[in-house]
Amino acid sequence: MTVRIRGFALPEAEPIDLYADGDRWTTDPVPHADLVAEGWLLPGLVDAHTHPGAQELGRPLDDAILRDDLRAHLAAGVTLIRAPGLAGDPPEWFGRDEDTPRALHAGEWIAQHGQFFPGWGRRPDPADLPRIAAAQAARTGWAKVVIDWKYGDDVLPVDILREAVTRVHAAGGRLAVHSQHAAGGAVAVEAGVDSIEHGMCLDPDLLSTMAEQGTALTPTLSVITGSLARKQQDPDTPGRSWYVSGATAHPGLVAAAVEAGVTILAGTDSRPHGRITDEIRALVAAGVPPHEALGAASWKARSYLGFAGLTAGAPADAVVLDADPRLDLGALSRPRAVIVRGRRVA
Ligand SMILES: [Zn+2]
Repeated sequence: MTVRIRGFALPEAEPIDLYADGDRWTTDPVPHADLVAEGWLLPGLVDAHTHPGAQELGRPLDDAILRDDLRAHLAAGVTLIRAPGLAGDPPEWFGRDEDTPRALHAGEWIAQHGQFFPGWGRRPDPADLPRIAAAQAARTGWAKVVIDWKYGDDVLPVDILREAVTRVHAAGGRLAVHSQHAAGGAVAVEAGVDSIEHGMCLDPDLLSTMAEQGTALTPTLSVITGSLARKQQDPDTPGRSWYVSGATAHPGLVAAAVEAGVTILAGTDSRPHGRITDEIRALVAAGVPPHEALGAASWKARSYLGFAGLTAGAPADAVVLDADPRLDLGALSRPRAVIVRGRRVA
């Protein structure tokens, strides 16, 4: 039975009547289509920073856990994820099967020797890192490099990161980097990476350059500020001061980034999965206008990742809500319907 949805489609809130022709939306009426829901329509939510498939840090990718995690995303209305780093190469069905969102991924993380979680990621010699990143991006469209880690650790040299960007782009892919230190953020912006993940301690003076050169920011705000209370209990060390000051400044940094015109992507980073609404709420609490916070977790993130919104010819994904989520974020917690690839999944 052909799925049909009707209502007001964000971001413009224009009335629309869509029919799923296989995996594409069409406005051409299909006789006897099943009007599954009416209301406020989003082209699905997007979690642009999630690492499904492993229960604990450093553990290998587990197919059963991966499937459960992806189902949790779908139940939350997430129709597209980007995994900037996985615990292993995902199985063939990842991002394709009916009970999974669409999925982009960067394969295993690429990190420096002595950094990142033991058991996870590849650690090439620095001279080999650009080639490894390009090979990954050629396979899946994205590579992810961890350019800084704990307090006091070395930041990846800018010339190596610049070469990685050049090679990844030549391979037709994009490069995401993990950064949580001011020095790392500066290197990432100077090298012209495609997206900065976390971006804690980023110098606000760099935001205009990011906007100009199209470097996106995935602030993972809820997970960073969520760790703040726990970190404040730690003994007073330079590492604690770094985290507490960076996490305290992070909401303001994110609001300033939106103001500066930086593309923001909503991402939840850690378990449990299916919490994208928490990140939207955290963005709004930081002072990001609800329209922009929703865009970061829906139409703007889709566009950045190469997927169209609710238009004829676009991939047939949608979330149907009973109220305008810009006025009532609570509507996100009770979707009337979730549609992926032209099929109702929730
Ligand atoms: Zn992450």
